[in-house]
Amino acid sequence: MRSLDDQGPSNLLKKTLETIVGIDNIITDREELSPYGKDIYYEKLPPIAVVTPSSNEQITKIVKEINNDGANLSVRGGGLSYSGGYLTDKKNSVMLNMQKFNKILEINKEDMYVRVESGVTWNQLNIALEPLGLRTPFWGTGSGLYATVGGGASQNAINYGSGRYGTLGESIIGLRLILASGEELRTGSWSTTQNPAPFNRYYGPDLTGLFIGDNGALAIKTEICLQLIPRPTHTNYIAYSFGSRSEFVKSASEIGRLGIISECFGLDPFFLSERITSTGFADDIDKLLNVAKNQQTVFKGIKEAFSVAVAGRRYAANVGYTLHMTVDGRNQTEVDSAEEDINKICNNYAGKPIKASISRIMRGTPFPPPAMMLGPKGDRWVPMHGIVPHSLHETILENVDTYMNANKEAIDEHDLVWGQVSNLIGHSRVLVEINLYWKDKRTDMIESYLSNEFLEKKDIFTENPDAYRAVGKLRSGLAGLFRELGGTHLQIGRSYPFLESRMTSAQTLLKAIKFQIDPSNNVNPGALKL
Ligand SMILES: Cc1cc2nc3c(=O)[nH]c(=O)nc-3n(C[C@H](O)[C@H](O)[C@H](O)COP(=O)(O)OP(=O)(O)OC[C@H]3O[C@@H](n4cnc5c(N)ncnc54)[C@H](O)[C@@H]3O)c2cc1C
Repeated sequence: MRSLDDQGPSNLLKKTLETIVGIDNIITDREELSPYGKDIYYEKLPPIAVVTPSSNEQITKIVKEINNDGANLSVRGGGLSYSGGYLTDKKNSVMLNMQKFNKILEINKEDMYVRVESGVTWNQLNIALEPLGLRTPFWGTGSGLYATVGGGASQNAINYGSGRYGTLGESIIGLRLILASGEELRTGSWSTTQNPAPFNRYYGPDLTGLFIGDNGALAIKTEICLQLIPRPTHTNYIAYSFGSRSEFVKSASEIGRLGIISECFGLDPFFLSERITSTGFADDIDKLLNVAKNQQTVFKGIKEAFSVAVAGRRYAANVGYTLHMTVDGRNQTEVDSAEEDINKICNNYAGKPIKASISRIMRGTPFPPPAMMLGPKGDRWVPMHGIVPHSLHETILENVDTYMNANKEAIDEHDLVWGQVSNLIGHSRVLVEINLYWKDKRTDMIESYLSNEFLEKKDIFTENPDAYRAVGKLRSGLAGLFRELGGTHLQIGRSYPFLESRMTSAQTLLKAIKFQIDPSNNVNPGALKL
């Protein structure tokens, strides 16, 4: 049920917004607004209204009304983040829901780019490009069934394709934005006054880069243009287990520097044996069928599906640090040659080959329902991460261990569980993610993404504010470890340190840019601490 709250001080604003987007595209009912005051981890004030525009003109009008009213505006894509990026503590905040910006506008095979509205999901884009034999270099987050290209661009996401092509930002060649003034901005070659086309990101200073990873603090992205590449036709899966963390780290870095893998996940023994293996073998059967469907030949597909089935998830018990890798190419020789390089490196560090089930399963269903939002028993989950150069990979893993051991008492007291994942980005970087689990009540926001059938199999916990606080303390302590090493973060939102850790001239410049674009600080105030 949607109804305007006649008692609210912003009733006039709500009525105006309703006129702009139509009654079916505005939510003002308190109960319906409740999930919009939460992300996967944080809970703040619900907005006074959620509006779902479907055109640039509507957004321009909304932004102007917000400015006239002195209200605030935040932007939500798929909503699948956990760093408070679209949440607010302000009482008078309106949320733009970008889910109707869901059109793939242009697939330009001649000039090799694709132009999408910012609410297009990664799953949607992948389905559209696959039959054309095309792909974007970075091609999605694990959350891509719901997560959007606009949300990813605003957080500078990583995952599929990142081992070779880096972050999503590195695949973007142009943006169309609405600034806080309501004015439109296009970037790169697209910003020309004559014959505009988004074929080249670089022409003078890089305005595209300014808005990548801005967490919606600088403008509203309405269209995003991504590079296209020929879709790889051949894929090899490789996995190794290592006797020591040091050998695992050295192998990962040597492989990373070559830039030949599409994805490489390094899992610590806890994450592998507890988290991945306990999610249930039954789920994998469907994924295996998809593995079979997606391979180049039915024969190869069946063979691969069989090897996953025989190995099963339980194969992972009692293995140490492991690397799970996927290599893509245009022919078998190319992927075999990359695999040979990887095998040599892993053998040099006494790695033992294991069944590459995990990367096969991930590729079989790259964008599954976001079951990972809950732990194996239905416990709450939140990751925190940082990015370091290869030279600091082992140091950060050691520092995390030392820090968590120093906090063992709190971890035991609140029955917290944690595990680490390392993820290679391009030739030079490693993302280390620490996944934390605690027993706490799941929220209506989390439930809204998961099926009843799935939820019924999970335990229900009571509210546990002490454990939640303990997790928050650990997260900020962990962020401090990355800061000490000069590390960086994606998904900054309102969660990770950013502005306060920049040198003075960088802070001044960023504040001046924000002021120039949004002098009244109406657009997502507080994101990036701006
Ligand atoms: C199960 C699961 C798996 C995940 N896997 C990955 C992964 O593989 N890699 C990864 O990097 N992250 C991952 N994430 C985190 C998250 O899903 C991603 O960062 C994703 O890119 C968020 O996209 P979204 O559309 O949901 O953005 P939202 O959560 O809606 O928004 C994120 C930020 O972007 C801003 N924003 C959104 N749309 C716009 C727009 N059009 N204009 C301006 N600002 C905007 C918001 O204000 C907010 O600050 C995962 C999360 C879950 C729950």
